[in-house]
Amino acid sequence: MKLQPVRPKDRFLVFGSPLIEEPEIEEVIATLRSGWVGTGPKVARFEEEFASYKGSPHAIAVNSCTAALHLSLLAADLPAGSEVITTPLTFCATVNAIIHAGCRPVLADIDPRTLNIDPQCVEAAISGRTAAIVPVHFAGRPCAMDPIMELAEKHHLAVIEDCAHAIESSRHGRPTGTFGDFGCFSFYVTKNIITGEGGMVLTPDPDKAARVRRLALHGMSADAWNRFGDEGYKHYYVVECGFKYNMTDLQAAIGLHQLKRIEQYHKRRLQIRKMYDNALKSLPVVLPSPLDPDTTDSCHLYQILIDEKRTGITRDQFLQRMTFHGIGVGVHYLSLPEHPWYQQCFGWNPALYPHAKRVGRQTVSLPIGPKLHDEDVHDVIAAVERSLSE
Ligand SMILES: *Cc1c(COP(=O)(O)O)cnc(C)c1O
Repeated sequence: MKLQPVRPKDRFLVFGSPLIEEPEIEEVIATLRSGWVGTGPKVARFEEEFASYKGSPHAIAVNSCTAALHLSLLAADLPAGSEVITTPLTFCATVNAIIHAGCRPVLADIDPRTLNIDPQCVEAAISGRTAAIVPVHFAGRPCAMDPIMELAEKHHLAVIEDCAHAIESSRHGRPTGTFGDFGCFSFYVTKNIITGEGGMVLTPDPDKAARVRRLALHGMSADAWNRFGDEGYKHYYVVECGFKYNMTDLQAAIGLHQLKRIEQYHKRRLQIRKMYDNALKSLPVVLPSPLDPDTTDSCHLYQILIDEKRTGITRDQFLQRMTFHGIGVGVHYLSLPEHPWYQQCFGWNPALYPHAKRVGRQTVSLPIGPKLHDEDVHDVIAAVERSLSE
């Protein structure tokens, strides 16, 4: 008899699909009708509200987290050719930004319990040329920032936090993105709140904030943002060679309403995580380890590990079966040294980062997010059970 999928093709559950509601749809339309669709008052308001939500004095909105990382690395003023330490278990954008900023990425393996960069491996990777650390709060679980900041102080290193997964996260009451010199956020379509494409830089330093803002708009002097405003024409001066990384009011129109619902969305993620924890704990898969005390996890991803020795099927077979059952799944991530370009450029070898290599080859992300109904979550659970038993 032919196997019946849990969900038919026409009800395929798309992985990471965002919840978009009426208020942001109306605000986008109102923005279009207003005629001011570029960088303007809505971006300014989104920056203020995001800064206040995170408890940071300065926020600069940009068009992606990749741009946020690039500009932060530039504004950190690292000597050309510096080494920047980061994790092998991250999206390629983290190291690409380091390379585009004229630095050399150096990897330090993860702690297999938290999947975050291991501070002891960071220490071992520090050389005379190291100038910065880019910790990634993986899946939303805050990194061990105390030892990381201690190392940074001792060796005079800049710290740029990749918070693409970690908008709602905090550790001992301190929000992610406010430990280091810069915190970089993403509002890409699969992230916890979205603007379509978008990002944000947080920094406690007013001069660095001004530098990021200038670099995000061609390196033009400060008044450029308002040069077509109602206070009369203003000349701008290019004071350095910058980029075109500004966020627009169309994007901020979405973000303003998503940000209002961030706690509500986060609660739903926590609920779904509990449903998965309860339903999957008796299966032969590895579930996420419990959170450290006094931390908040944004719960961006829910990952299980498929160890062929225990499941009898490979991770990739499991991915195929979940897809057959109408459930979209993700892989976060194949470790960076698995990619040919980095191997060619830097001689990276996955075997040198064994924890990231193993996780990258075993991990599967299940759908989690405010768009999911209980019935969707039950379908995911049924699909996991059947994928493991068929
Ligand atoms: C999504 C992501 C980025 C890049 O974000 P964009 O806004 O798409 O540029 C960077 N780092 C990590 C860890 C990510 O998940």
